[in-house]
Amino acid sequence: MENKLLEFLKLQKIDIDISDFKKTFENIPKEIDVLENKISTEEIKINNLKDKISVLEKELDDYNSQIETINTKIKNQEDKLFTINSNKEFEALQKETGDLKRLKIEIEDKQLKTMENLELSKENLNNFTSQFQTDIEPLKEEIKKLENNLKECNEKKETLIADRNQITKTLDENILIQYESLLEDNPPVIVSAIGETCGQCFLTIPPQTYIKVLQQKEIVNCPHCRKILIPEENNV
Ligand SMILES: [Zn+2]
Repeated sequence: MENKLLEFLKLQKIDIDISDFKKTFENIPKEIDVLENKISTEEIKINNLKDKISVLEKELDDYNSQIETINTKIKNQEDKLFTINSNKEFEALQKETGDLKRLKIEIEDKQLKTMENLELSKENLNNFTSQFQTDIEPLKEEIKKLENNLKECNEKKETLIADRNQITKTLDENILIQYESLLEDNPPVIVSAIGETCGQCFLTIPPQTYIKVLQQKEIVNCPHCRKILIPEENNV
């Protein structure tokens, strides 16, 4: 019995490694997700700002062409003033010119606001872009590293599973059944009895149970956590 059980320690070591890899598999995809979200949030910000800038540029173009049209109209009307004889017509035309000039001032006001807005947006874009280069761009490298890490872990895990399959073939079948069913609670399955204390749950083992552990004639489970107990000096 003694040796049969101790042979399982090799299997247990593999199972602990496999379990560690499983934790890695749970954590790395989450880490990648967090980084990807951070990158896409910043990319959206920059794209929104670029859109805003192109809208403002278009607005500015519109104001420019509106002002150009008004200038042409004013010029035409001023030319016309010289050809008019009647006072009434003269006044009407002067009023029209006055209206156009006021409209032009209104548009120039809007144009100025748009220009200020555009300048500010461009400044923001510059800041965001350089911040992206320094803070966000390196995250892409970090994601690549994590992905490689994940791939490596997967390969190592496959090797461990292959080793495990080899080892289980050589082990006592009855103990293996019990071992596998306890493994569902995560490794380790076989733990030391440290004096009359279970090395896993740290609860006290009854003296008669501890004696059985030391005799090593049968499989002894901790009465509290169900782990298989072995003498401390055997657990290497
Ligand atoms: Zn226990």
